Amino acid sequence: MNKESNEFQYSPALESTSIVKIAERYGHFINGKFTSSRSGKTFATINPATEEILAKVAVGSKVDIDLAVKAASGAYKKVWSKLPAKERGKYLYRIARLMQERAREFAIIESLDNGKPIRETRDVDIPLAISHFFYHAGWADKLDYAGLGIAPRAHGVAGQIIPWNFPLLMLAWKIAPALAAGNTVVLKPAETTPLSALLFAEICQEADLPPGVVNIVTGDGKTGAEIIAHRGIDKVAFTGSTEVGKAIALSLATTGKPLSLELGGKGANIVFDDAPLDQAVEGIINGIFFNQGHVCCAGSRLLIQENIYNEFLEKLKNRMGKIRVGNPLDKNTDLGAINSKAQLQKIQTLTRAGAAEGAISWQPESSLPKKGFWYPPTIFTDVTMAHRIAREEIFGPVLSILTFRTAQEAIEKANNTPFGLSAGIWSEKGSRILWVAKELKAGVIWSNTFNKFDPASPFGGYKESGWGREGGRHGLASYLLRNEASAKSPSRKLVR
Ligand code: NAP
Ligand code: MG
Repeated sequence: MNKESNEFQYSPALESTSIVKIAERYGHFINGKFTSSRSGKTFATINPATEEILAKVAVGSKVDIDLAVKAASGAYKKVWSKLPAKERGKYLYRIARLMQERAREFAIIESLDNGKPIRETRDVDIPLAISHFFYHAGWADKLDYAGLGIAPRAHGVAGQIIPWNFPLLMLAWKIAPALAAGNTVVLKPAETTPLSALLFAEICQEADLPPGVVNIVTGDGKTGAEIIAHRGIDKVAFTGSTEVGKAIALSLATTGKPLSLELGGKGANIVFDDAPLDQAVEGIINGIFFNQGHVCCAGSRLLIQENIYNEFLEKLKNRMGKIRVGNPLDKNTDLGAINSKAQLQKIQTLTRAGAAEGAISWQPESSLPKKGFWYPPTIFTDVTMAHRIAREEIFGPVLSILTFRTAQEAIEKANNTPFGLSAGIWSEKGSRILWVAKELKAGVIWSNTFNKFDPASPFGGYKESGWGREGGRHGLASYLLRNEASAKSPSRKLVR
């Protein structure tokens, strides 16, 4: 215990990287094999905590994408769509179990490539990703009960694009339901975090998944755009920014291709004066500083009832002073590195705008590592609804604080955003929680907790936060075509 600051000092507890083998170079994973890029072009993926190059990764060109789509289409027609549903389920169970066996490897690779703390990859990202495969394995032979008629059909080949903030988890959200529903996939991970997807490709090989059922093409935004535009893609699923999501929606508007979009957010966390304040402080901290704030459903706007403002702010600052920023591989670390230089610059631009527009920033004392991309936990007070930091997604460890007097005012402020992804309500009064939740325009609402996820629970947004849901029966439905004939004749017997 440090007597002066009254805080515990921790010795470093570094996770060893010895079990992880990162190759110097990676190709795409097409038709069950690793293949080099036809163009020969590569890009480097780095560790954002040290700026060291981890590996060179292939840039997917039109030719690569064409091969991947052909492999997926062939596998769909010849193998995957012909397999009995319970056999598909077995593959998903096998993938989940193999991921469990290599969970530590996944956790370390994800921390190295993304910059997020090992405590988080080990305890949240990887177990949740695995649970998505277990959950959807159970659905594979029960699609008749998904509410889409008897024997709903798969689309065929799904083109899937994911972001860098939860690389393996977003892969699981995409691949597990697609495969359970009988589709095959071509997936592109984000440019800054391709390594866990490439380790997942090894799992597909170990699981003896028929070649072509899962194809992973690495590359940048151009590669993503080309996957989406490919004529052989029957369904598109995208998670990323609202800006790119809008462009994709426009590009597909005349094609009739089914599209699901999971986009940005600016979630409000509303604290009423009767809330258990210490518990609420923990929830607010988790809501905005979990994963460096690189969370689409982050509680990035805090609305505090005016009469508890001073007391709550003091508690929040006190708790922020205990956040440990630093080496993502240290098991004591709470806040890791910002994922990329570009993201750090985006955070800096928006926080500068906050200060220029009159908001007041506060950060606890912390020393940041010299190398790598870092941003300390930050709050802004004196924020108004017109400020950019109250309206735009910062996607970093930055909280904008506003106040309210009545529940009606809190609801109006919470809903005054182009987004509609998440919200949190902190109060002891159940009837108030239910009423406020009913009035909030957000796809996911937590009460007296925040950032809790479960594969059985649908996740998604309103307005500029996207279309459709992922997870649960609703998420599964986006990978299936409703069987209108059987849906309209409920008397038809289920024969299977
Ligand atoms: P992004 O720039 O939109 O990129 C997302 C993915 O799309 C990446 O793989 C990216 O490739 C690719 N891409 C870029 N331009 C493309 C294009 N024109 N066509 C097709 N693909 C393209 O978003 P990001 O900055 O990586 O991710 C952060 C955003 O994702 C935030 O806004 C966050 O809120 C959102 N998000 C939403 C959810 C949700 O469930 N609602 C979950 C997680 C994240 P490159 O990486 O190579 O650029
Ligand atoms: Mg990286």
